[in-house]
Amino acid sequence: MSAARMIDGRAAAQALLDEVACDVAALREAGIEPCLAVVLVGDDPASDVYVRNKVRRTREVGIRSIEERLDAHTCEAALLALIARLNADPQVHGILVQLPLPAQIDAAAVLAAIDPHKDVDGFHRDNVGRLTLGESSLVPCTPQGCLLLLQQTLGDLAGKHAVVVGRSNIVGKPMAALLLNAHCSVSVLHSRSTNARELCRSADIVVVAVGRAGCVDASWIKPGAVVIDVGINRVADGAGQTRLTGDVDHASVAQVAAALTPVPGGVGPMTIACLMRNTVQAARHLAASLPASLPASPPIPLTLAR
Ligand code: NAD
Repeated sequence: MSAARMIDGRAAAQALLDEVACDVAALREAGIEPCLAVVLVGDDPASDVYVRNKVRRTREVGIRSIEERLDAHTCEAALLALIARLNADPQVHGILVQLPLPAQIDAAAVLAAIDPHKDVDGFHRDNVGRLTLGESSLVPCTPQGCLLLLQQTLGDLAGKHAVVVGRSNIVGKPMAALLLNAHCSVSVLHSRSTNARELCRSADIVVVAVGRAGCVDASWIKPGAVVIDVGINRVADGAGQTRLTGDVDHASVAQVAAALTPVPGGVGPMTIACLMRNTVQAARHLAASLPASLPASPPIPLTLAR
């Protein structure tokens, strides 16, 4: 029998989207139309699905959406020219370049070219630095969503031991920074870690972002821990079809954890809701920096006391 409570990411995301929709309505009433530009280079089917989902959600909450689709053979200079144009456009508040990019384009150069105030993915080094320093910034969407789910489940996270499995720039590292800013004691495990299972088994909070189906099972989890499964893996279902599954072996972990996110329906919906939230934050920032604009709305609260 399963002991763990399933953390409902869809419901949490819907609540966040409802808040964002109210914020968007208030901005529109004040004469500001929040706008997100999504740039897709090439025709990778998974990226195409992600972009479609983002654009759909954008429109649902009342944010204007611009889609820029470029040919797979686009050169880096052409992409940088597009980003310069979007940076300079005062009607555009957020810019998202869908990753991965084709091999001829240096993704780091592209991310560095986005105006940090429009960097709704939070990948620009200015935003990475500000997050590390515990300063207000645009925070990467997936770890932001994980943090909100953890706070909703546990309340104050201060003093908890958190283990992050995976150290990527888009999930693991910013997740560790957010947990540290929320006063957790944080360990980061990765492909070269020794003793990973034992270290993980001492954690109150476990966030797994590896990209390998079922790589964390019950033997990694302390009884009563809260487990966030970021992984999205497509596996054969035995009937000639594929299904999505996480990095956590849910059947066994549900026996020992206090709470656990499902896949799908956990972190994924929160990621997209946090992208909408970041777009509103970016629109507020730009509005506040315009001469004779409205008084700035309060920033969206997100942890970060030192
Ligand atoms: P990545 O490949 O960039 O990083 C994987 C990390 O896992 C690396 O840091 C590596 O050191 C670590 N790792 C590999 N083997 C390990 C092992 N045996 N033990 C411990 N650590 C190990 O991946 P990523 O971009 O961080 O994504 C991770 C997963 O999260 C993927 O399945 C991805 O699809 C998913 N993801 C989901 C969302 C979402 O919205 N739900 C968003 C981003 C990524």
